[in-house]
Amino acid sequence: MSWEENVRKVVPYVAGEQPKDPTVIKLNTNENPYPPAPGVAEVIRRFDYDSLRKYPDQDVSALVSALAGHHGLDREQVFVGVGSDDVLAMSFLTFFNSGKPILFPDITYSFYDVWADLYRIPYEDQPLDENFCVREEDYFKENGGIILANPNAPTGVASERSVYEKIIRENPDSVVIIDEAYVDFGGESCVPLIEKYDNLLVVQTFSKSRSMAGMRIGYAMGNRKLIRYLNDIKFSFNSYTMNTVTIAAGVASVEDEAYFAETTARVVATRERTKRELAKLGFVFPDSKTNFIFAAHKTVPAQELFDVLRENKIYVRHWNKPRIENYLRISIGTDEEMDKVLTFLEEYLTNRKCIK
Ligand SMILES: *Cc1c(COP(=O)(O)O)cnc(C)c1O
Repeated sequence: MSWEENVRKVVPYVAGEQPKDPTVIKLNTNENPYPPAPGVAEVIRRFDYDSLRKYPDQDVSALVSALAGHHGLDREQVFVGVGSDDVLAMSFLTFFNSGKPILFPDITYSFYDVWADLYRIPYEDQPLDENFCVREEDYFKENGGIILANPNAPTGVASERSVYEKIIRENPDSVVIIDEAYVDFGGESCVPLIEKYDNLLVVQTFSKSRSMAGMRIGYAMGNRKLIRYLNDIKFSFNSYTMNTVTIAAGVASVEDEAYFAETTARVVATRERTKRELAKLGFVFPDSKTNFIFAAHKTVPAQELFDVLRENKIYVRHWNKPRIENYLRISIGTDEEMDKVLTFLEEYLTNRKCIK
């Protein structure tokens, strides 16, 4: 007997690289190119560090209240965690216990199958159609739960709320999780459906649209009963998941609606311009409603482009996986960063034609 036989073995999720070199144009993890709301800096600068002697508020009340107000919900309908990865992992543990397979698309956030494996939850992936759209009928069958990202990652494709509503309505015996990490860049949120369906959990994050990936704040919204069950699991695991500084910074972000609207609109404007420029350079891509574009070049393989971009200190994301091996996921940076990328690509693609 070896102790190794009793280890819970998993193949971990691989996140995009975080290079130390500050001159890298970093378009590989969908971070926001703009700083967090000015109030966030103010709160951290003025933070009463003597208060760190004490444990944080285990109910995260200030942030829960701010988010409930922002979304027009009651406090009992909001659950906060350390990034939406934490919230999603806890949701898998809480809700997906039937022994039946859970369902999610074949191309989606690659953490879903990692959590399923970690918790020994069986799953079946459902192929997206040829345009990378969800086929709703694939989710009208017996299952142990459903998770869908809207807009989806890494494709950037959003479906209408009615598509998700049908899936939620057809599955009253399963919890349906909608991961809205990118919804603020142009998707249709399912939050308005929460009052109507007690099996719907909507998850959002501060990492993308609120420019706070380094702070680690994510949250779930749903029926009071779902939120109570999530809290039971949280308090059976670690009561103090969110630290005092983060709670205060999160509140400051939510309080500045104008800044949030302005920076997300800027990212969207840059994305729309980048789409036009990429198309001119011979790229094709599904229409993105996110802060990234999932693009394939008509003639040049993605691996080649990924490699030359990387050599020139431009980081994007590429997966060697069926159906998507010829795509690059390019996060939207500032206008200046995107201009550098577009200029580089234009020169590379032109010169490449001359050589070959
Ligand atoms: C970025 C991302 C998350 C995780 O975000 P954190 O809040 O930083 O943990 C979850 N789901 C999707 C689809 C994402 O792209």
